[in-house]
Amino acid sequence: MSIKKLKKDIFVHFIDNLIRTVKVIGVQAKGERFDYGLLASAKDLRLDYDVTLQPPKKYFLPPVETLVTYEVGDGYSSQYDCEQFVLIGVHPYDMVAINQLDELFRQDNVDSHYFARRDNATIVACDVVNPSKNVFASSMGTATVKNGYDVLLTDIGDSYLAEAATEKGENLLAKAAGAEEANKEDLNKRQQVWDKNEAGLNKHQLQCKVTDLPRLLGRAYNHPVWEEKAKTCFNCGSCNMVCPTCYCFDIQDDVGWDFITGKRQRAWDGCLLDGFTKVAGGHEFRKKRADRFRHRLYRKGKYVPEKIGGQIACVGCGRCIDACLPDIANPVNVYNRLVADLGVK
Ligand code: SF4
Ligand code: SF4
Repeated sequence: MSIKKLKKDIFVHFIDNLIRTVKVIGVQAKGERFDYGLLASAKDLRLDYDVTLQPPKKYFLPPVETLVTYEVGDGYSSQYDCEQFVLIGVHPYDMVAINQLDELFRQDNVDSHYFARRDNATIVACDVVNPSKNVFASSMGTATVKNGYDVLLTDIGDSYLAEAATEKGENLLAKAAGAEEANKEDLNKRQQVWDKNEAGLNKHQLQCKVTDLPRLLGRAYNHPVWEEKAKTCFNCGSCNMVCPTCYCFDIQDDVGWDFITGKRQRAWDGCLLDGFTKVAGGHEFRKKRADRFRHRLYRKGKYVPEKIGGQIACVGCGRCIDACLPDIANPVNVYNRLVADLGVK
């Protein structure tokens, strides 16, 4: 697969031309923060962003989506979103999160609604230029990424290096008029960016190897930290909603006023929310706040890794830290406390 060099003015033309032919979603400024949105012009694209408010997973697993519509006596119809789009600016840690979601939604019953969107997406990832104030991707091994994207962009000063990793990526880069072949010096500059990010995206240092986390948590179920932290938890669920690897959802039926038509929808849910585990008969399995607080960090460090070959389901984006008003959501603080008290065996 090819590696091209696009001077920044050429890149601007490339993106503007792309916008004329396909739906393009890219990272843009929202006041002093950044988020993904429909891109109207290359000048709005901000590949120097630190972190987006929401992760890009919403383009594959929307906050609310209709799975099925039905009409009594006329059966049902599955609803799929098959619009092609290009998603530009996915940071490596968010790309790792999407790779994990791909694996999870492929397990057991393949989630065709998720993959309808995923298959129609062309993902242009980009290496981090400005670290956010709470990123710890270096600790989690997600500061750079080597798979999942169609194209990977790296800012090397006056140009972007663009590496195509798939046929979709090759086809996209073929539209970049004026692109040059990357030379050895360009590749060295890219390697310097990778080396810098692998060490430097680390505002919170995990005091053990990521691979130690499942074993550590295996000994921590009754540790006092869960009660201590949960005392000030608002149950707001913000730490779930901003997380690129959280994928829990609820299914709801919306019956029309005519009692004949209706739709079945799914909507994001969060394990910190009271009622998440409520079932028929009023039983609730994690009624205590501390149990819900513990569950989120067990999902990240033990339960999900057991489903996906040991990969830790926290990619170190730092969004939950930004979002948590009582400042208790930082996974590194909790894991480091367990390391200090229990040691790593
Ligand atoms: S747990 Fe927090 S830091 Fe880890 S991936 Fe989720 S939002 Fe990011
Ligand atoms: S840990 Fe923080 S963000 Fe998460 S539910 Fe509790 S208060 Fe909200």
